[in-house]
Amino acid sequence: MTHTDPQQEIDQLRDEIRKHDRRYYVDAAPTITDQEYDELLDRLKQLEAEHPELLTTDSPTQRVGGEPLEGFRTVPHARPMLSIDNTYDVENLSKWAQRCFEALDPRLTEIEAELAAIDQREAPIKGKRDKESQSLRKQGKEQRETLRVKADEILVAAAKCGYTIEGDYLAEPKIDGVAINLRYENGLLMLASTRGDGTHGDDVTQNIRTIHAIPLRLAATAALPAPEVLEVRGEIFLPNAEFQRINQAFLDAGKEPFANPRNATAGTLKQLDSMAVAERRLQFLAHGQGEVVGMEFDTHTRFLEALAAWGVPASPLAKLCRSIHEVWKLIEQFDAQRDQLAYDVDGVVVKLDRFDQREQLGTTSRFPRWCIAYKYPAEQAVTKLLQVDWQVGKTGKLTPRATMEPVFVAGTTVQHATLHNYGEILRKDIRIGDTVIIEKAGEIIPQVVRVDLDQRPANLPPLEPPEKCPDCAGEVEAEQDDTGKETARYCMNPECPAQLRERLIHFAARGQMDIDGMGEKIVLQLADAGLLNSFGDIFELHKKREQLLALDRMGEKKADNLLAGIEAAKARGLDRVLCGLGIRHIGSTVARILAKHYGTIKTLQEATREDIQSFQTDGQESGIGPEIATSIHHFLHSPAGKHVIEELRAANVTLAVSQPIEQNTPQIFAGKTFVVTGKLEKCTRDEIHALVEQHGGKTSSSVSKNTDYLVAGQKAGSKLVKAEQLGVRVLSESQWEELLDRHEVGQEKRP
Ligand SMILES: [Zn+2]
Repeated sequence: MTHTDPQQEIDQLRDEIRKHDRRYYVDAAPTITDQEYDELLDRLKQLEAEHPELLTTDSPTQRVGGEPLEGFRTVPHARPMLSIDNTYDVENLSKWAQRCFEALDPRLTEIEAELAAIDQREAPIKGKRDKESQSLRKQGKEQRETLRVKADEILVAAAKCGYTIEGDYLAEPKIDGVAINLRYENGLLMLASTRGDGTHGDDVTQNIRTIHAIPLRLAATAALPAPEVLEVRGEIFLPNAEFQRINQAFLDAGKEPFANPRNATAGTLKQLDSMAVAERRLQFLAHGQGEVVGMEFDTHTRFLEALAAWGVPASPLAKLCRSIHEVWKLIEQFDAQRDQLAYDVDGVVVKLDRFDQREQLGTTSRFPRWCIAYKYPAEQAVTKLLQVDWQVGKTGKLTPRATMEPVFVAGTTVQHATLHNYGEILRKDIRIGDTVIIEKAGEIIPQVVRVDLDQRPANLPPLEPPEKCPDCAGEVEAEQDDTGKETARYCMNPECPAQLRERLIHFAARGQMDIDGMGEKIVLQLADAGLLNSFGDIFELHKKREQLLALDRMGEKKADNLLAGIEAAKARGLDRVLCGLGIRHIGSTVARILAKHYGTIKTLQEATREDIQSFQTDGQESGIGPEIATSIHHFLHSPAGKHVIEELRAANVTLAVSQPIEQNTPQIFAGKTFVVTGKLEKCTRDEIHALVEQHGGKTSSSVSKNTDYLVAGQKAGSKLVKAEQLGVRVLSESQWEELLDRHEVGQEKRP
């Protein structure tokens, strides 16, 4: 190669490397040796070093970049990331197809319309006994009968041919990994975020950039340009061989290995140092779309074709099926193949291919109706039960945990299993010393399925239930079902320290109050020191700074961080508080639905149990049944519940839905994009990001011509160089503060 123009050579090298990346990581068909590849990359690095002005963020040399993060920023999803309803049952798969068919078949929708018309026609004559009305009703009855017979015939015929619909079903293997949303803007990877709670996830862009199968820039062409916005959803996972390599390295280093590839993947994505992520070869396969602007697809197949052209990998095993019979055949076929795949597959996802049909079916509050996952039955193994320990949960429930002889099942060595509760032990007649059949499905903790009674030694005594709480020795009560059989046991001591500890850990954890600096260890330390005896005590800690500082390994800085974290957590909003209190049956989804509907704790306290279990959201059932309604209602009206709410109110914890920030903060940075880099003195990068966003601005992790300001701390490095080249305004930390102050003061002065 002879080049006089470095830009030209750089462009050519990048292009070539991207093509080889794609051949190697996406198509698994490399055309050059690793050594040749390294030579290309080295030459590019050299040229970029000689001409730093030509360095861009989408260069293949920039996959690992930047200093380790201090934490992950939470970002909202442009479209919610829902989970997928799943079933282990062929029957349910058929029922799902039937529901799709019923909603989509034009003959059935017409019959529905005709039935509705008859209802409407009869509404004015309801209850009237005159001749004319009676004859009209008789006519209606006959018509209904005819229509129902017709509908039944259509359904019977449809069931026979496997519910074929206009358009197809699309089936693909379900990979047991971590869901991710990749956001490309004008072809450049701008953001990668985890599912999180479905509406907000973690910004893991820096880590995702290290995955070579994910293009930093879409391979757009004139025929197929990149849309303005393209969100690709897919699964990040570790191939089995890579998982084993990582675990072996952990074992060699004397560290605890990961339980399964999924945990290892999740753990890797949570690494703050992208260098460490790059060492583990994560993989990616796309399976869906989020927000797309500037381009429309009519089917999923078309969408996948476009992804393939742009160099985004999707499962090569995805197949269109005409009927649910074909889907079932495919499920059996995958099952036979799945041992030979390089990664874990725990089921098959089936969805409608046509987007207009998806639209027609819509979603429930948790799942899309146009999609279902069939999961393969769990793998089983035989082992011996050695011991049972009782653990106290946050609701006081005593959960038996089994220790068994180690046994290999579903890809991992298993030694512990949950026995759920004493009722379960009675029902299955599980005794210490028994030979048990255990089962493990995906990420679920192994369970004891049954006892092999033929193997039971003579005179094996039944397992004794705990009569006292194993932690506080408090009174234990057994709960019974309708037939009087024991279900579970609970420690009844309201002051049980074990329960309180579990509740506090849950309350402070991410997803609930997300108190920075208050992880499990700190909660235990504070509780042991007698500083935490209730939720309210958390918010009194600032009055006990001296006692805090007296704790082991608690310096000024750590204590201040903890107190700042507690202060910040007060504004999380009602849904997070409700979820954090550890009320039975109230998880994050239910808490969000309740908070959204009632708005404030006061309105929720005033609601009747009937109202809680029957209200609708957006014209749909809320999904809150009598059990959940009873639980929340009981909590809010119990002395303990009232006391907790009072304590939180007194501490100024927000007990209403958090207000959209735009309403009370001047949007002085609207339309402006900020990048923050380098080591900062006065505040963290996250804090600046939050302030920018509160004031209507956007933040980005890389400098481009669209960047308006670069806030640069010490050792700002390549981003600073880039900003200066592009003429982006660079602010020191104090200049940033000035900018913010000036605007805020300016705002206040306005009439
Ligand atoms: Zn107890």
